[in-house]
Amino acid sequence: MKAGKSPGPDGFTVAYYKTFRTLLGPKFVALLNALDGSTSLDHATLRAHIALIPKPDRDHTLVSNYRPISLLNVDIKIMTKMLATRLNAFIPGLVHPDQTGFVPTREARDNTLRAINLIHLANATHTPTVFLSIDAEKAFDRVDWTFLYETLKLLGFGPKWLTWIRNLYSVPRASLRVNGTYSPDIDIRNGTRQGCPLSPLLFILTLEPLLQRIRDNTSIHGHPLPFHHYNVAAFADDILLSLTNPLVSLKHLMAELDTYGALSNFQINLSKCEVLGVRITERMKKAIVTSYPFKWAHRSIRYLGVALPSDLSQLYITNYEPLLQTISQDLRRWKILHVSWLGRINILKMNILPRFLYIFQTIPIGVPPKFFALLRTNLLKFIWNDTHPRVSYADMTRHRNRGGLGLPHLELYHTAALFLKISDWSMSPPTKLWVPLEQKCLKIPITTLPWQSAPLTKLISSPNPLIAPTLRRWRILKMSLSLSTHPSPLTPLTFNPLFPDGMSHHFLPLELDGPYLTLATCMANAAPRPISDMLRQDKITPLTHFRYQQLTHFIQSLGPSQTVRTDESPFETLCTRDPRPPHLLSTIYGSLLDASTPGLPSYAERWNRDIGTDISDEDWGLIFQTAAHASRSLHIQQTHYKFLMRWYLTPTRLHKIYSTTDKTCWRCRDSPGTFVHIWWECSMIRSYWDSVFTIINEITGLDLDPSPLVALFHLVPIPTLTYRNSLAIQLFNVAKSLIPRKWRLVTPPTIWEWIQAVEGVREMEEMFFSRSSKYDKYHVIWYWWLDFRTKRSRDYTPQLVPVVE
Ligand SMILES: [Zn+2]
Repeated sequence: MKAGKSPGPDGFTVAYYKTFRTLLGPKFVALLNALDGSTSLDHATLRAHIALIPKPDRDHTLVSNYRPISLLNVDIKIMTKMLATRLNAFIPGLVHPDQTGFVPTREARDNTLRAINLIHLANATHTPTVFLSIDAEKAFDRVDWTFLYETLKLLGFGPKWLTWIRNLYSVPRASLRVNGTYSPDIDIRNGTRQGCPLSPLLFILTLEPLLQRIRDNTSIHGHPLPFHHYNVAAFADDILLSLTNPLVSLKHLMAELDTYGALSNFQINLSKCEVLGVRITERMKKAIVTSYPFKWAHRSIRYLGVALPSDLSQLYITNYEPLLQTISQDLRRWKILHVSWLGRINILKMNILPRFLYIFQTIPIGVPPKFFALLRTNLLKFIWNDTHPRVSYADMTRHRNRGGLGLPHLELYHTAALFLKISDWSMSPPTKLWVPLEQKCLKIPITTLPWQSAPLTKLISSPNPLIAPTLRRWRILKMSLSLSTHPSPLTPLTFNPLFPDGMSHHFLPLELDGPYLTLATCMANAAPRPISDMLRQDKITPLTHFRYQQLTHFIQSLGPSQTVRTDESPFETLCTRDPRPPHLLSTIYGSLLDASTPGLPSYAERWNRDIGTDISDEDWGLIFQTAAHASRSLHIQQTHYKFLMRWYLTPTRLHKIYSTTDKTCWRCRDSPGTFVHIWWECSMIRSYWDSVFTIINEITGLDLDPSPLVALFHLVPIPTLTYRNSLAIQLFNVAKSLIPRKWRLVTPPTIWEWIQAVEGVREMEEMFFSRSSKYDKYHVIWYWWLDFRTKRSRDYTPQLVPVVE
């Protein structure tokens, strides 16, 4: 539970409960355990304040255009959080895979992929289908409590649980906060509460009876597959029905909705429901339009924030292009903001990236290269404010720990979203309900799909936009980025069109683990395993011998046996691991990014040349890790990166661009103004650095020899982590940041200026540490600086009377 959030009506904050946890904990546990049918929570405990948040761009004179957010007391929040955490473990078992919202390991993407597959199936099999998206009016707030308790009881919740939930929802009262004043308390009679972690779980449980009725009703038709009837899907209150035999199905559906509505208080705004017809005749459409008040969608319906068109070739135009346009507009609008270079990259990470990630994951289709070309142009224009980029795109998109700026590489994120399917396809049995729908478009088992090398036409029977583009991209990149090998250890030997009449299911090795026979299973010591190793002696017949010969021949045809790998590549392991590892998308993105930008960033080479000593790859690693965490101040961070990435225009560099300019140093007028000279070697800057080193050594007790590697690159003989939290790093950072501040001025920075600038940083740090209640840490870091400032800084006061020459 995060500290710093608004407390409830009693005013006790999260920090209060955290600080006195040992005192309050046992009493709180005793209180919860004492609750039973006769005792209940105090009214004051259950009170809430409701804040009304206006929905953007709506008419704010209407009450329906405000979102009520309950501010509950923290003790109630602890209790609901605890119940929610316990319940979470059981939710996947209680809620059918048709429902994905708020269920661990299920995502919005599961529902959109399922819908797209169903549209494809309806088109491919010429089956008239309607897709009905249901608008449930304020569904979260309407749930009837009696219905809720009955549902929970039926699902097997024990009496203790029901008592807790009854206590939470028994007589809650709330007061509305409007313009800073509070209304008198009002009773609340129904609805799960917003702002409570248990509420969404209870809501999806109360929705389950409706969905189960729809599933069980044989008159509500959907696309039948052997083990599941695809007629209803839900993401919390976003319900999407996919109905075949529409006229009959709709009639029975309406009856189910009415019954459920009467029992649970669930209401549907029929006129706001949208219907999309796929392969529907004009007559059928007319019949639906005249019998129901639904909005008939002509080309596509919106579901979970994406557009689902009846013609799937329009998926790109209806989703990707509008997003690109909106984002380009936003970027143009934001260009005028006074935000630094690094700040702009942060805006892209925090605002732009999530919007693209959502669409990449919910609609993982092929995207033309011009989309990313245009996007990249727009992003670069925004970051560089229409000027010429000073850092290469490759260096900007690298991971920060590898010397980049962590600018999201959106094309690779798109690829990573496509490759999530390699993992989905590999699971056996499939964990996602849409996988069997894609299986219907294939000639081979879907688990083998990523590891087949036959032409796509031999694998795919129906051109589903969710399959071929992913597979093509995978085949291009798996070798070039070394994600997989050829042949892969996972190459199927059964169900492989390249080995058609070879392996029947009768010839399987004894210890077959997995859904199909893989190449790795048949190999041992870089050669096909002997037949006696694969089959029991009594099973070897002339026929199996023949089959074995075919098998070894096929394996040899894949390549010289020493090149046949039996151990999976890290990427293969990542994609086939069951259950799927958390944050798989970012892990895949990371490995794609690292594989596409191997080695050091381009500027590192140039530094190695300039400094004259070769900085080892390992040392560069330390430099990058420190750079990513060098300072809390964005300005100092930015100076450090600008320096590392050679952003500044030195006299020699300017001379290369404009030959008329002078290439000597503007300070000493003595030597060529190279990077190393301007920042370190110039006699006038060296005396500044020498004083800085003397003072830092004196204050910190370190014994650092003056060196550009220490001063400029933070390459110090101290463990990186210790150094990152030290005073020395702050002092060096500030000393360095003064050099560009005095760019093109003859006089170098003075120690007095440095002391003043350090004070600025120290004050910021003091604020930071006192706000996060870590004042003692601040003191540990800054003590000796404060001591120096009080006792010695006066020695460096500038002379007030200028020296007359
Ligand atoms: Zn110089």
